[in-house]
Amino acid sequence: MTRRADRRLRPERESHFDTRSKGVIFSAGGALPLLLIAVLEPTFLRPGTLPILVGIVVFTVVTVGFTVRVGTLTDRQFTVLGSGGMLGVAVCAFLIADPSGARAVTAMLAVVPALAASGSPRRVTLSLTGAAVILAVALSINGAEGVVRYVAAGAAVTTVIVPALLIAAMRTSLESVTERLETLANTDPLTGLLNRRGMLPEVEALLARACLTRKAVVVSLVDVDHFKAVNDTRGHAAGDDVLTTVAEAIARQVPSDAVVARLGGEEFLVLRVAATVTGLEEHILEAVRSSCDVTVSIGVAQADVRPGSADAVVDVETTLDRLTYAADRALYTAKTSGRDRVAFALEDPVEWPLGGISSRRDRLEVLRRGAS
Ligand code: GH3
Ligand code: MG
Ligand code: MG
Repeated sequence: MTRRADRRLRPERESHFDTRSKGVIFSAGGALPLLLIAVLEPTFLRPGTLPILVGIVVFTVVTVGFTVRVGTLTDRQFTVLGSGGMLGVAVCAFLIADPSGARAVTAMLAVVPALAASGSPRRVTLSLTGAAVILAVALSINGAEGVVRYVAAGAAVTTVIVPALLIAAMRTSLESVTERLETLANTDPLTGLLNRRGMLPEVEALLARACLTRKAVVVSLVDVDHFKAVNDTRGHAAGDDVLTTVAEAIARQVPSDAVVARLGGEEFLVLRVAATVTGLEEHILEAVRSSCDVTVSIGVAQADVRPGSADAVVDVETTLDRLTYAADRALYTAKTSGRDRVAFALEDPVEWPLGGISSRRDRLEVLRRGAS
């Protein structure tokens, strides 16, 4: 493999900092030189206000230090630090003796709403933007006369709101594109069922549920009989229609807490938690027979799921492969003994580590997902 291809395959390293925290560190850090300027040029501030600036700089240092330490701020931490930061900017603008310097600093009030829009819930962004607008307007009209007050107020509102709005709009469209890409990556475009990749998280939850309820996992591999002949005699498009019809027939029969996926070609996988093997597979056979002119064969593997040790290296893909392989062997039996039928196999128990589901709350969440 070339080095370039190798780099492409390597998973991206997760950064300690999210975008919002990086913005907090960068913008708060920018306030630090104010103290140096005030010390070197005493007329920069209104007389006697240096201690207040020192207080603001201390808050800024604490903000940067805290953000560097936690990496990703919670919404509450961001709201506290962001509000404090905006108050610091407003007070700084007030302390600076020269009105043009004060106005320049006032513009910095736009930073916190923009950062909020990049990664906070709408409620947080709206309240911080509202506070920033009020502070910016108050500082901008301070000292302005007549009609200039209105111009200053309008400019202050625009300066704060436009960047926040733009960032919020870009974030919304990015989120919807990401959601669409995720759906595309996880579903089979022909049938709308999950694909193998998309089913993995569902299978993981299903195994945890089977383990917690001490039930078995039942895996059914459904394969269309003589499907190649459908393609050969009626064409690929008609073959696609048959696959869609079969997928719908399977989906109609399975309980709502089962996982159904198209593995590729004319093979479908159904996983469910069950105390005993029920008549579900017979219902699938009958549903396919009555909805189109093909039949299916089904291989079923059943395995008990037991709690394994927390440090056991059992991943969902390996477990799914093992269960699918067992179902495939049963499917072979169904095919060789005449097709349009079900064959069963009992598989060795699966040891599933419940390490990640230790609290009562986590257990309830796993069971609730199964019940919904
Ligand atoms: P058996 O009863 O033993 O399962 O025979 P079969 O003909 O169903 O099995 P085989 O594996 O020989 O053929 C599967 C066919 O499925 C071959 C392939 O061209 C076709 N196929 C795979 N994916 C698609 C698809 O997305 N659409 C269509 N129309 N055909 C597909
Ligand atoms: Mg096949
Ligand atoms: Mg087939």
